[in-house]
Order: sequence, then structure tokens, then C-alpha cells
Amino acid sequence: MAIFRPRGTNDFLPADTAKWQELEALLRTMCREYGFGEIRTPLFEETELFQRGVGETTDIVQKEMYTFTDHGGRSLTLRPENTASACRAYVEDKLYGQVQPIKLYYMGPMFRYEKPQSGRFRQFHQFGIEIFGSASPAADAEIIAFAWDLYQNRLGLKNLRLLLNSVGCPECRAAYRKALQDYFRPRYDELCETCKSRFERNPMRILDCKSAENQEIAKDAPLITDYLCDDCRAHFQQVKAMLDAADIPYELDPRLVRGLDYYTKTAFEIQVATIGAQSAVCGGGRYDGLIKEIGGESTPGVGFALGMERVFSALAAQGSDIETEDQLDVYLVVAGSAASAAAFRLADQLRRAGLTCEMDYADKSFKAQLKAANRLQADWAVIIGEDELKSGAATVKNMGDGSQESVPLERVKQYLLEK
Ligand code: ATP
Ligand code: MG
Repeated sequence: MAIFRPRGTNDFLPADTAKWQELEALLRTMCREYGFGEIRTPLFEETELFQRGVGETTDIVQKEMYTFTDHGGRSLTLRPENTASACRAYVEDKLYGQVQPIKLYYMGPMFRYEKPQSGRFRQFHQFGIEIFGSASPAADAEIIAFAWDLYQNRLGLKNLRLLLNSVGCPECRAAYRKALQDYFRPRYDELCETCKSRFERNPMRILDCKSAENQEIAKDAPLITDYLCDDCRAHFQQVKAMLDAADIPYELDPRLVRGLDYYTKTAFEIQVATIGAQSAVCGGGRYDGLIKEIGGESTPGVGFALGMERVFSALAAQGSDIETEDQLDVYLVVAGSAASAAAFRLADQLRRAGLTCEMDYADKSFKAQLKAANRLQADWAVIIGEDELKSGAATVKNMGDGSQESVPLERVKQYLLEK
């Protein structure tokens, strides 16, 4: 074969997509229970949306975007995440005019030019929820509770860690920013090139750098939590109190700074220890500055995004898997063209009655067809040969225990439905 799929992308085959559909169904069910409605935004947006909404100093904008110029000379970018688009839609589609808060969810492919490795792809899938228009700590707590409920209860994952921090607001960060620069200044020359550029523009981002040397340099850096203003401190206190009340265990991590510029106050991440380096299954927090940043009225927001591929790797690493119910109800075993026509008619009836049904189109031998029924894990084989046609009754075989019964053709549907 001469043509391959692009690096860092995947083909999902029916055995995989069956599991994806189960996960998607679980997420949609939870969204209904928690009161989130789905939003679907374009897979590409004006590049400027992400430059402003994700932030010029982030890894995403600096090195990971798929940006192209279209035939009309516009700069467009495949979405690397969905929060900026959801905020754009909030402004553009005037969701601020509806009863607040607005609770949205999304899921679908995102695109980032990253070094492909286990758990890290160039096209991957995120699910996320957002609450717009509420500054209440209860909104932060609801977002975190949703994520925790999903991983802990619905997916039953073990070795979960919920890391929690507050990254303050632009006011408290001004003093913190200065403290960080004072800390890094003497070792400026040792920082990686990217972090040198961050020193002036966004020194907090240096704490988020993946390089081991930088992490070593940053290990005694001042902590944001020592610089929170009264408002941010009280907000953080209330988020913690609500999580305590819901028995959601969190670990305070004052070094957790999310990878995006627009976060304010609450930041959190959920990790699953067992999946190695790419252990972050979900990240989120509050972003009160984002909607204004992209041109709307100042509006608070809070949300999270999770990587769906990492849900599957976490489940696999813990030896559990998402159950799918895609086994076959009925395989029709036929001999001869007259029987084929009768079976075709029966297949149509069975399918319309909601049963899954397959039949042979390749004139395979009787034995080969029964083998196929076995391989497809059919619950029932319905055999229609010449004898059966003559007597007007099919042989219905229970593939589980091998027992069989003769059932009039026009009663087969009813018989199977009753079973
Ligand atoms: P990381 O630190 O792993 O690069 P991030 O800070 O870039 O994560 P976010 O932008 O917050 O991640 O995205 C939320 C979630 O999306 C992550 O926790 C992760 O589960 C998933 N994710 C991010 N990038 C990728 C990728 N390239 N491939 C697969 N999943 C990803
Ligand atoms: Mg990243």
C-alpha cells in the first residue's frame, strides 16, 4: 500500500467505534443529568480566535497549531481545543441574552501538531463542559464534581488523583509575576529558549514547562497561593468547602498552572497514575477573562476538557473495558435460491422488529454457514433449507446450548422475540 494515514492519527474500526459510542452515550447521559446542552462548532476557525483565546505564549499557539491560508487568503486554524470556539459562539450567537448560566458540552476531534507518542496524537478527541455566566464557586465545584463522578463512579477507575489549585486573578498575579521574575532572573541563561521568551511575557508558564532542567530550576519558585487576593482566597476556600461536602478528595498542588493563558482562580487536573507519562486524563478551571479577550462583554466561565483516547488507555491499563452489546442475535442459514428469497424476507421482518440479523450471500456450504454463525457469536441460527421450505417451518437453533426446534416460518419472528 502506497498511502498511509498521517502521523499521529488513527483509524477507528468497528470494534473500536462500538466502544467509542458507549463512552459517548455515557457522556451524553451524564450531560442530560447535569443539565448541559450540546454545542457543535466548526472544526476550523479564524486563527486569531486561538491566538487570543488560547494565548500567544502557550505551547499550543507557539508550536502546535495546524494553520493554513484558504483560497480567499484568510488564515484559518484547525481547532486545537473547543473552549475558545464555545466562547466565540456565546458572543456571536448572543447566548448572553438567555437565562444564565449557560451550560454547554462538546465532543469531537481536535488537532495539535505534537510529537506523536503513546497517549499523544495529532488528531485526538476531547469531551468538555463549560458553564458561562456564573462567578459562583458552586459552578467550579459542579464542573469538578462532574469530572470526578465520571472517572470515579461511572468508569470505576482506580488510582485517581485530583490536583487542585487557584491561579488567582490578574490583580494578585501582578505581584506574583514580579516575584517569579525575581526568582528566575539569576538563572535566566539556563532556561530553555521557549521559557526565555516566557520570562517577560508570561513567567508563570515557565512552571508548566515539560523540560526536566527547567523543572529543576523551578523547584523552589514562589507559589501563587501565597499571593492570592482576598477575593480569590475566599473563592478558593468555598470551592474546597463544597468539594469537602461532596466527599470529593483533592490534593492541593500550588504548582499546577494550566496550559492556557485565560485561566483565573480555580485550576484542576485529574491524573491516573497507571498510564505513565501522559497521565493527565482531564484538565480545567475557571477562565473569567476569556470571553472579554475574544471581544465579548466581561463574562465569567468555568469548564474542563478531557482526552477521550486517554480514557480508553486508562481503562485498558487497569484491565477493565467499556462493555459493548454488539453481538449478533440471528444468523440465517440458507440453502438454495428459493430458500434465499424466503430468508431475505424473514431478515427484513426480524430487522424491523429490532433484532440484529445476518445471512450468507456467498452460497457457502451449510457447514460453513453454521461456522460463520459461530464466529459472529450469533445467539440463534435459523436454518432454511429445501426441507424447511417444503414444510414451511424453519429450524431454529439455540447456538448457546445447541438445542433446536422447528418453528413455522411466519412464527419465527414472534418466537425469537419471546425468547
Ligand atoms: P498535556 O499537558 O498532556 O499536553 P494539555 O495541558 O495540553 O495536556 P489540555 O489542553 O488541557 O491539555 O487538554 C485536556 C486534555 O486533553 C488533556 O488532559 C489530555 O487528556 C487531552 N490531550 C491533550 N493533548 C492531547 C493529545 N495530543 N493527544 C491526546 N490527548 C490529548
Ligand atoms: Mg499539551
